[in-house]
Amino acid sequence: MIYMKKKLLNISRKKLHKKFRHHLVSVLMDCDILVIGAGILGLSSAYHLKKDNPRKRVVVVDRSGGPGQGNSAKSEGAFRNVFTSETNFLLADSTIDWFHCLQNSLGYDLKLAEIGYLWLFSQEQYDRMTRVLDIISGRGAALKTFEKDELKRFIPDLTTDFRDDEESRLLGLEPVDKGVLGIKCGSIDADALVRSYEHLFLELGGEVKYGTEVKKLKITPERELGIPGEPFVWQNCHVSGARTNRGEVNAETRS
Ligand SMILES: Cc1cc2nc3c(=O)[nH]c(=O)nc-3n(C[C@H](O)[C@H](O)[C@H](O)COP(=O)(O)OP(=O)(O)OC[C@H]3O[C@@H](n4cnc5c(N)ncnc54)[C@H](O)[C@@H]3O)c2cc1C
Repeated sequence: MIYMKKKLLNISRKKLHKKFRHHLVSVLMDCDILVIGAGILGLSSAYHLKKDNPRKRVVVVDRSGGPGQGNSAKSEGAFRNVFTSETNFLLADSTIDWFHCLQNSLGYDLKLAEIGYLWLFSQEQYDRMTRVLDIISGRGAALKTFEKDELKRFIPDLTTDFRDDEESRLLGLEPVDKGVLGIKCGSIDADALVRSYEHLFLELGGEVKYGTEVKKLKITPERELGIPGEPFVWQNCHVSGARTNRGEVNAETRS
């Protein structure tokens, strides 16, 4: 009797698997918050999410073998706080303060160098920009203006006058009459920044899974009906996790 039951069970399991093999996926893990991508945006978001939600299980997955192997690895790491939009200014300016805090107070060597960021203008371009530059410096971004002779003294190899030929016209090159230097601008080692975020995140108990490629996002209807084929186009849906090369990662979608 027991043997028969086992056999039946085996057959039905096999049949079930054949019928529903596309629906059977192994679960890699359940978490509260899933972050896809361990670049600078993924790891910094994960760190802040974990910091704000210490009890939540925050997991970062990335298809690469380590942190910051995408565009973050290619970045020059140049930063500036000179922007026309106030939002960009506030975001960039506070981020630069954070770089200083990371390096000077928390001990992460970001190779931070405030070398400035130089814009070159013709007199005409500069005159058009004056109002904007006033707004930018009025918000608190430190700027220093250089005259042509000062620029030539500081950067002897700088070309300030272009021949009036086809190439110059095509490139829209105008003579350089003024320079505007953003003071609170410079560069960091982008890889060091990425790794500092990873370290801070792990210290808080965050988890990272490398070699984990997301193949598809898991879409779940707001109200599951239990009908095969869900979600249907008319159902309100949310992202509830991801299907990866190593199995499914389920994430919470509401706090
Ligand atoms: C040549 C170059 C120079 C740059 N210079 C500067 C600069 O000087 N200053 C500046 O501020 N910005 C610069 N940038 C821009 C800056 O590098 C990017 O804005 C920044 O790195 C974007 O970070 P990210 O985390 O969004 O992307 P990424 O660093 O690309 O991270 C995305 C991550 O997602 C992972 N991923 C993608 N798909 C999947 C998947 N399906 N499953 C799992 N993981 C996946 C990737 O492996 C990657 O690690 C530069 C960019 C380039 C290309």
